[in-house]
Amino acid sequence: MPLNNETHILPSRGAAASRCTAFGLPSKMIAVILCTVALSLPGCDTGSPDILHHTGTTMGTYYAIKVVKPLQDAHAGDTETKQLGHNIERILTQINAEMSTYRKDSALSRFNASTGTDWFPVPEDLYTVVTEALEISRLTDGAFDITVGPLVNLWGFGPAMDKSGNEAIDPVPGEAAALLPRTEDLRDAMARIGYGKISTRATPPALRKDDPRVYLDLSAIAKGFAVDKIAEYLEKKGFSSYLVDIGGELRAKGKNAAGTPWRVAIEKPTPDRRAIHRIVALDGHAVATSGDYRNFFEKAGKRYSHTIDPKTGQPVTHNLASVTVIGESAMRSDAMATAISVLGPETGYALAVRENMPVWLITKTEAGFSDRNTQAFTEFVVTE
Ligand code: ADP
Ligand code: MG
Repeated sequence: MPLNNETHILPSRGAAASRCTAFGLPSKMIAVILCTVALSLPGCDTGSPDILHHTGTTMGTYYAIKVVKPLQDAHAGDTETKQLGHNIERILTQINAEMSTYRKDSALSRFNASTGTDWFPVPEDLYTVVTEALEISRLTDGAFDITVGPLVNLWGFGPAMDKSGNEAIDPVPGEAAALLPRTEDLRDAMARIGYGKISTRATPPALRKDDPRVYLDLSAIAKGFAVDKIAEYLEKKGFSSYLVDIGGELRAKGKNAAGTPWRVAIEKPTPDRRAIHRIVALDGHAVATSGDYRNFFEKAGKRYSHTIDPKTGQPVTHNLASVTVIGESAMRSDAMATAISVLGPETGYALAVRENMPVWLITKTEAGFSDRNTQAFTEFVVTE
């Protein structure tokens, strides 16, 4: 499919996030995975006088923000440009300080470490994300569940694999099973999970655990939340044309510098080469893509995904290669992409149809890949 210069190429989900684990550094276990996205240091590039390009790293992945300046600001000075970039970084730093499980001092880590079952005051944004996560858990019959944290860590996709490379998990002796969690540890983790064990209170914002051992992981929703937060900030600053991309979770509004709608190209889920699969046009919508074809590890010929089915405690095993969800909220789209990845091609698709959600699924087949999308998705697809 031909691409014009204004098409934003969304790295296929596999390339985007693991690649470096969400909120942390790449873990030893998945270090074999190819990072195809260049991680750049925070920086502003005005490129053309009409567009501000700000890139950097956050939450263990990249971010890329494009803002089209209104005509009267087209030649705004360096100071304003730098200030905008600085404020964006501040927003991201703040979200990390509240929601990262890789930081022991984050509000979330303090809640996770708390051993009480009383209301625990938290920042408002953390309350918002947890409340939305619980709603999506109900909608997906528990396929999406932020209490899966202990399982994520046991399977080696969380901060239990620390920066020094020490596994906090205790590997079973024996070559084939090394690094795989022990059955008793999995059983113990299963007893700790369940979204019904968490309550939220709006004023003043607070969370409560029924079981002090509950441990939350917001990796599948916080990037989307951060995208929304930056989009809202840009709106408040009077910008009506922008594209915000954090690790492949993206939201775009208005028109690009060429005055045409933002177009986002999503890659084919092939681990070894890059090929454009679909282009979608977005104006006021978010797109999130979830996939495990690069974020996984292999042990004894078996593939283990970073997406965990809370009902089994195991990484998902179906043949869904990638799930793309479009919606108004990046937070919800991010979480729904993960939820549908858990539900699989049949149940996930049925849920998307029932909810009239624009969703596009790619499944692995013997011959390669096959596509399926809901009717609601077609209105976003660019055909040329
Ligand atoms: P993807 O877009 O491929 O779903 P994300 O980075 O959005 O990737 O989310 C994956 C992360 O979500 C995992 O690394 C893990 O931390 C967490 N996770 C895994 N399974 C679940 C689940 N069933 N519900 C909520 N979060 C999950
Ligand atoms: Mg997600």
